[in-house]
Amino acid sequence: MSATARPEIVVDLAAVRHNLRTIDALVGDDVATMAVVKADAYGHGALEVARAAREAGTPWLGVATVPEALALREAGDVGRLLCWLVLPGEDLTAAVAADVDVTAATTAHLDLLARAVEASGRPARVQLKVDTGLSRSGSTAEAWPALVAAARAGELEGRWRVTGVWSHLAAAEEPEHPANTQQAAAFHAALAVVEEAGLRPEVRHLANSAAALLHPDLRLDLVRIGLATYGLDPAPDVAHGTDLRPAMTVTAPLTMVKQVPEGTSVSYGWRWSAPAPTTLGLVPVGYADGLPRAAAGNDRPGPAGAPAEVEVGGRRRPLRGTVCMDQVVVELGPAGTEVGAAVGDVVRLVGPAPAPSAQEWAQACGTISYEIVTRLGGRLVRRHV
Ligand code: PLP
Repeated sequence: MSATARPEIVVDLAAVRHNLRTIDALVGDDVATMAVVKADAYGHGALEVARAAREAGTPWLGVATVPEALALREAGDVGRLLCWLVLPGEDLTAAVAADVDVTAATTAHLDLLARAVEASGRPARVQLKVDTGLSRSGSTAEAWPALVAAARAGELEGRWRVTGVWSHLAAAEEPEHPANTQQAAAFHAALAVVEEAGLRPEVRHLANSAAALLHPDLRLDLVRIGLATYGLDPAPDVAHGTDLRPAMTVTAPLTMVKQVPEGTSVSYGWRWSAPAPTTLGLVPVGYADGLPRAAAGNDRPGPAGAPAEVEVGGRRRPLRGTVCMDQVVVELGPAGTEVGAAVGDVVRLVGPAPAPSAQEWAQACGTISYEIVTRLGGRLVRRHV
């Protein structure tokens, strides 16, 4: 019996370093890499992943919020660091004082930065964001010339340096999607306005993981690598041959093994019944720990989808019955046969093969791997190796 004392998320930082070095080699010397470590590094632990990224030579880190950026600074990170969400009226003084590159998508954001520059007594670094088609944050094309002009004026006054200009893609994982060429064209038009205004940003960037892998022409000066940092495939439907290694493994001990007769119903709502005498196993991880309730494929009345699986003893075992708050039932095999699993054995819920990937879980749940890994947590203890 191999012992796992507790359910945990094991994060392989060597895999993180490998993935970032692989991307770095792929994009070449003229393109900088940014490791995106927002949302606690997609559930992998922001401080540890940030350290691993710097060890791998990654020059940029990216986060969504100012508090995420400041937490990295408080942990001792001193490298280039971009954040891209500004709240209405947010005090940016600490971000400016900590040399964080702050994104401005509106002149209101520049006003907040101007206040922060005054309060901190030092110039800011600002990156301008233009909306090229995602219709999320970012200046509209109409407002762009005024934003660029205001940014240029502030730079001439010594308030800040405009270090970057950027945008975000809507469908990079679909190489033939018309959004890719349309957004690239819109971005180049926006860059022409920047150039015309006399701004000379260090970095112009558009690419996420999928674009970095699939669209060499969209890499520009920098690629923002989220999912691929963690070894998850940003374009599972497209062959690209990049060697990515999943960094996250979720494990738990098997807490119970029992044989049930044919027709035994399992878990809330009796949504699954054993079609034959069956050996069931119990895994102490549930939806409070981030396992989607939809993972068993049968949490709603009506036809069931294929359930997610776990791996025990090198073999895949399907989830059976509805995922509970704290535990889930798996089918180990026919009753009365050697199922190759015993109480205390390590169950791998997510991880490198032969464990199921986050992508396989996503497929079973009708979502994307991003949602699977960012939600895992709850009572799971995270351990970095
Ligand atoms: N850039 C921005 C602005 C993002 O919001 C994200 C993540 O959603 C990324 C880059 C990284 O994307 P991906 O994880 O697909 O590489």
